Order: sequence, then C-alpha cells, then structure tokens
Amino acid sequence: MKIAVLKEQATGENRVAATPETVKKFIALGATLAVEAGAGEAASFADADYAAAGATLGSRAETLTGADIILAVSSPDPASIGGAAPGAWLAASLNPFADPARIQGYADAGVEALAMEFMPRITRAQSMDILSSQSNLAGYKAVLDAAAEYGRAFPMMMTAAGTVSAARVFVMGVGVAGLQAIATARRLGAQVSATDVRSATKEQIMSLGAKPIFVENVKGIEGEGAGGYAGEMSPEYQAAQAELVSGHIAKQDIVITTALIPGRPAPRLISAAQVASMRPGSVIVDLAVEAGGNVEGAVAGEVVTVNGVKIVGHRNVAGRLAADASALFSRNLFNFLSAFWDKEAGKPVLDEEIGDAIRLTKDGKIVNARLLG
Ligand code: NAD
Repeated sequence: MKIAVLKEQATGENRVAATPETVKKFIALGATLAVEAGAGEAASFADADYAAAGATLGSRAETLTGADIILAVSSPDPASIGGAAPGAWLAASLNPFADPARIQGYADAGVEALAMEFMPRITRAQSMDILSSQSNLAGYKAVLDAAAEYGRAFPMMMTAAGTVSAARVFVMGVGVAGLQAIATARRLGAQVSATDVRSATKEQIMSLGAKPIFVENVKGIEGEGAGGYAGEMSPEYQAAQAELVSGHIAKQDIVITTALIPGRPAPRLISAAQVASMRPGSVIVDLAVEAGGNVEGAVAGEVVTVNGVKIVGHRNVAGRLAADASALFSRNLFNFLSAFWDKEAGKPVLDEEIGDAIRLTKDGKIVNARLLG
C-alpha cells in the first residue's frame, strides 16, 4: 500500500496533506509513504523531517508511480496525477460543485476521487471533517486580519490621556468559523454581537458572552437544512433580516461574514448601501468571498476600500495559518483512512455510509448522488 503526498500546485496554497507526524502513523499501519520533495516547505515542514519519519522523498513522477492512495489538500489537475495504480484513491478537498470538468477528468484518469468536504456530519466522522478543522482556523484568522486592518484598538482602554472605547464586532453566520470568530473577538476585548438563520445558534452566541441579533416571528426563519447546514431562506425572512441588520450594521466597527450554503452561491448579506452606512475606518471580512461573497463589493484575493470602509477578501484564509491548517487537515485524513484500515487486506475499506457520501468517481464514471442530482 503506497501513499503519495503531493506538493500543492495551486497559487497561494501553502498547506500540505500529510505532516511528519501523520507519515509516521501511516507507516505504523503498514503503508509505504512517498512525499514529493518540498511538499511541506510552505507550511514549515522540512523534507528532512519527512525522511526522518520514514518517507521517501522524490519527484512528482517518482512519488506517484504505483501509488494506491494520493493525498492532496486542493484538487490537483487530473493531468498532473498520472502514474498511480489503476483505481487509486485521491483523497483531498475537491470542491466538487465548482468544476465539473475536473471531476470528469478524475473519472477519465481511472482515479477514485474522494471529496473530503462531503464527509457526512455524523458523530463518528467528526475527527475526519476538514470543513470544521479549517473553518475553525479561518474564523480565528478573520478576526486577526480585521484587527490588522483596523486603525483602532479592540479592547476598551482607560488611560491617563483618556478612554479608548471597545470595538464593536458583528459576526454574521455562526457555524464553526463564526463561533471561533466570536470567541477570538471576545478574547481581544471587543463588544461582540452575532446573527444566523439557525435559531439553535442563539444560545451558543450567548454562551460565548456575545449578543444575539435575530429576526423574530417571520415565516421561513427556521433555517436548518440537511445535516445541520443552513437551507435557503424565504423572501419574507430575507427582507426582515436585511432591515434588522441595516440598523445594526451602521453602528459596527468590524463585521465578519461566514455564511455558506452547500452547493449554492453564498447568500448576499451586506449590500453596497449597508457598506456605505458604516463609518470610515470600519472593516468587513468576507470569509465567503470565494463562494461568491456575502458582501457586495468584496473581491476575492484583495482588500478593497469603499467610502473609507475596508472590505477584506483573502482567499484560503485557513491556509494563511499553513502549519496548523496542515496539521489538522493531515490528522483529518489520517483519522479517516485509519478508521477504515483493514489489517488483513493491508488497506482501507470504506463502508457504505461514508463511502457513498464522499466518493465522486469510480470505474471511469461520476457516481456521487449529489453531483448526479
Ligand atoms: P457553514 O460553513 O455551512 O455556514 C456558516 C454559517 O452560516 C452557518 O451557521 C449557517 O447557518 C449560516 N448561514 C447561512 N445562511 C445564512 C444567512 N442568510 N444569514 C446568516 N447566517 C447564515 O456552517 P458550518 O460551520 O459548517 O456549521 C453548520 C452546523 O453544522 C453547525 O451547527 C455545526 O456545529 C454543525 N457541524 C456538525 C458537525 C458534525 O456533527 N460532524 C461537524 C461540523 C459542523
């Protein structure tokens, strides 16, 4: 059982899909590990540390030759993974809805592509969930990015020269990233409020010492879709939410938006008029910018200034903490493969519940129900 660890090729992708720690653990299971030279460099993991953990280092072609499992962070170009064993698994974040041609490319290449972001949200798969591990870091980093762009302090400070008031931070979307953003902003001393479409988040917001901002008594607000994710809201709800948020947002110094709906463009939460209502020097961080953006005017990969308000649209925010993001991503992959490791077969064998959920391609075809519609 040969496991290949690729060096990421996408611009700005600094993460790596295995660390020396997980290499060692895979070897303990009986696997052989081949790591593409330089794979961990951008995340501060040296080739020498992989070698010390027992991996062989080599070119991409050497790494891939005869591989049974390919590990990557971002979806590799299907043309760049030739040489693996027929039917080899590719386990990575494959962004399945974004690029159907790429998924077809994996089918054509005879690879069994496993989309880690399709991991079902069930208790036994929590430790395998890359969306949670990466969102957690992104929520934290979003607040630090906001603080770095903000020309004022976060905590209230009483000084001999006068008082500095606490920053007002509003978090929109209270999933994994939003909860971590609330906690981080609170730790920095901000006055924090938050909103979501799932009413279950109200208590979570209060338990972190923040103020919930919620639309009440409007049809279509339940908001809980399949698997704990948000569903799409009714037009009535959207209108009521926009009005409530408009009043609140004009008084905020920092807004962090994290709202996503799987398989659809991110919901638009902040209009240009709402951006214009904020005072100059305010900062908005749009964590959904790569999914179409929650904020009108946000640009992926840029920090833009509109009427003195900075809109931060960094891509791959978890990847901006490449070492920790890689460590957690790698453990998610290890937890996944080791949970299914069949000692006799000397390889992982997936069960139906998880296999069917994450498998995109098999035997030259796209097989995933969510992609086939
Ligand atoms: P997500 O990244 O899909 O979305 C972020 C948040 O945006 C969600 O809370 C969502 O409700 C919210 N949102 C969507 N549309 C919105 C709108 N129009 N206005 C305001 N907010 C909006 O969410 P997530 O971080 O993946 O978490 C979703 C839920 O799944 C959470 O309850 C989380 O605890 C749960 N979860 C469970 C598991 C598990 O059991 N294995 C793993 C991870 C997350």
